Amino acid sequence: MGIKAIDTHVHLNDEAAIKAKGARHEQMTRYFGRERKPVSIDELADQYRARNMMAVLVNSTDVTSSGIPPVPNDHIADAVRKHPDVFIGLGAIDPWQGKLAQDEIKRCAEELGLRGLGELNPGRQYFAPNEPRFYPLWEEAAKHKLVVLFHGGMMGAGAGTPGGMGYKLKYGRPIPHLDDIAADFPELKIIGAHPSWPWQEESLAIARHKSNFYIDLSGWAPKYWPQSLVHYANTIIQDKVLFGSDWPALGVERWLEEFEQLPFKPEVRQKIMLDNATKLWGLEVS
Ligand SMILES: [Zn+2]
Repeated sequence: MGIKAIDTHVHLNDEAAIKAKGARHEQMTRYFGRERKPVSIDELADQYRARNMMAVLVNSTDVTSSGIPPVPNDHIADAVRKHPDVFIGLGAIDPWQGKLAQDEIKRCAEELGLRGLGELNPGRQYFAPNEPRFYPLWEEAAKHKLVVLFHGGMMGAGAGTPGGMGYKLKYGRPIPHLDDIAADFPELKIIGAHPSWPWQEESLAIARHKSNFYIDLSGWAPKYWPQSLVHYANTIIQDKVLFGSDWPALGVERWLEEFEQLPFKPEVRQKIMLDNATKLWGLEVS
């Protein structure tokens, strides 16, 4: 079976993941207007297998602020162990846990076989990624060659509620937060997730400027992508953009159909859907 695409941004939505989202499960269902029925790991694997796609499973935690225990990273690792033909796994860390978070990064790499960290969500986790106190985390990730995936820009989490559930958008601004890390850790590969609205141009600029910074095109229906995103992704940053859905926030089929309608060059489509990701994740795909 030849793999046709790699979806670089997939959240688990099994019973364990739904429990770990707490009140956000209800709120996200309302905001995105999609039903989010539980889908087991085996079902999810079958769905991607049927599409001839691989999926990068992300995990997240904000336990120090919400008190809700996350899906353990072992759960993601188990999914990958069970379905290595379909899944690549990333581990969750709560940056405020300091040394514990650093130890978890090491465990993710050495014991769990995960390939990166994320989705880190600075707005929901209340942290500025470029603060020096968090630098040991990025250093540890770089040491283990882990890719770090950060949420960028506006977020579905908290959207449409009074006070946005307390989450602050400022932390999700790519410059300086992610640009600083990309500059200070040139060996660390960073993915800025989503078009990063309202700071999309900043994300595009970092991708152009720093070879270790990538953008995933998830979480934003392609039909609504601003023209400048389509233009830059089709030209000067064509080697830096990755297909991602952000399922279950956005349906994979919807993403594919709308992407099809956009004026991308065929060779760029191939890069976005597969080639850029196989290079980034160091995969051999037949
Ligand atoms: Zn996100």
